[in-house]
Amino acid sequence: MKNIRILWLTLLFIFGCLAEAKQNVILMISDGQGFNTLNAANMYLRCNPMEKLDFPIRLSMQTHSASAAFGFYNPSEMWKNMEWARTNATDSAAAATAMYTGVKVSNGNINWSTNNQPITSIFDLASERGYATGAITTVQFCHATPAAAGAHVTNRASMAEIAYEMIFKSELDVIMGAGNPFYDDNGNAKNKADYQYVGNKELWEKLKKRKANGFKLIETKDDFQQLADGNIKADKIIGIVQTSNTTQLARAAGKELNSNVPSLATMAKGALNVLNKDKDGFCLMIEGGAVDWANHGNNKERMIEEELDFLSAVEAVNSWVENNSSWDETLLIVTADHECGFLTGEENSLADIQSNGPNSIPKMAYNSQGHTNSLVPIFAKGKNAEMFTHYVIGCDNIGSDAYFGINSRNYIDNTTIFTVMNYTLSEAVRKK
Ligand SMILES: [Zn+2]
Repeated sequence: MKNIRILWLTLLFIFGCLAEAKQNVILMISDGQGFNTLNAANMYLRCNPMEKLDFPIRLSMQTHSASAAFGFYNPSEMWKNMEWARTNATDSAAAATAMYTGVKVSNGNINWSTNNQPITSIFDLASERGYATGAITTVQFCHATPAAAGAHVTNRASMAEIAYEMIFKSELDVIMGAGNPFYDDNGNAKNKADYQYVGNKELWEKLKKRKANGFKLIETKDDFQQLADGNIKADKIIGIVQTSNTTQLARAAGKELNSNVPSLATMAKGALNVLNKDKDGFCLMIEGGAVDWANHGNNKERMIEEELDFLSAVEAVNSWVENNSSWDETLLIVTADHECGFLTGEENSLADIQSNGPNSIPKMAYNSQGHTNSLVPIFAKGKNAEMFTHYVIGCDNIGSDAYFGINSRNYIDNTTIFTVMNYTLSEAVRKK
């Protein structure tokens, strides 16, 4: 009898350990997505996918960097003076650094402090703690937001240096993005190679020969699909789609979608399959990188197209978690790094955007070709998601209900993302 009790307790102990063993963090960033970017996509779809997906945490987030002279978000300035939002906004490098390290840095810097020192990111910490890590995007993999998952540099424009650091020095297990040397923005093969987005010719040839730190290179749409379907086995994957700057956005005006590249949803499923093999769990960043580029170009149609690609990826990731993991072991965060384009209902006005019905571009106008200090939406679900509510630092009582949609007017700072991710990925370590 005593032996049975001991056996029972031992089994309980083993299952208890197994249940705690895995922790995953998935951070999804729609680059340049403000509230009205999301509102426009919702009007186009005639539904809010985030509501359908039942995210329990729906907050707002301030995004300023160390380059902002005035610092914190100010609702009264925001809603009385359009110039306030347009002045000294963060760039993607400083915003990604704030979210991944918890430290505000100057614009242009990637994991590099105002005291001129490299800063450890959540991806560095996660690797040290035994988790698999990855960063995937619809723009070049060495562009600011994915770059900050692997590189530490003073200048985001040092793309060759960034590519080398991501591939050879960082512990990233999955890297995906555009930047293929042999394809143009329309997905057509080109005669003269352009290596600027993959480091250089030497690095590309190492990738091709599988001599780049163990990475297996995939390029074709079919390979990305095979990876998403679980048919390609590899511990480390680098996926460079067969286009130059972006998967879709930079293609010629009027051209139908590039047919030779995967969607962000397919890329995400492939990345999750690779990372999920780690027994400790993983930390993955998934970026809709070209939403920002469409907003910079004040291109409403392409912005909606890119945001819909991002929202489909959110749905795919949500299903992946439910089918392959659980909300007890996975934290999913969906947000933006900053607003871009200052999208409102009409020019020189803070009016709300208006629906023109489903599948139609809403009535809206851009008020900038750059980033703004507007709040951005943040959604969270799963392990430790409720932690975000403890970090609210202010409330915007001035913006309209239509603008905030299903999100709370309460806002957090973007550095809180690091705090919650770091806590989530340390807890498992502590329990071992
Ligand atoms: Zn950005």
